[in-house]
Amino acid sequence: MRLAHHHIEKRLAAGARELTMTCPEREQLLQAYHQAVAAYANAVSELKHANRDQFPRQFAMADAAREKCDRLREKIDLHRVTHGC
Ligand SMILES: [Zn+2]
Repeated sequence: MRLAHHHIEKRLAAGARELTMTCPEREQLLQAYHQAVAAYANAVSELKHANRDQFPRQFAMADAAREKCDRLREKIDLHRVTHGC
């Protein structure tokens, strides 16, 4: 059946497009995650230079940066479940 064959080909092509197409929301989440991880790494690195007085505040800042990474990570997980991408 030529018609049926044509239909299957169309479906395969659509499936391939879905696999290679980028999702803007996913891109944005990954970009934010990348930035948050870099900020966390930077905050941890800064701890080396912190003196006794600065340390508690900078340690708390590093913790906050890590929590931001965790929240974005959860958002990505949620996106993957709801979007399937
Ligand atoms: Zn998506």
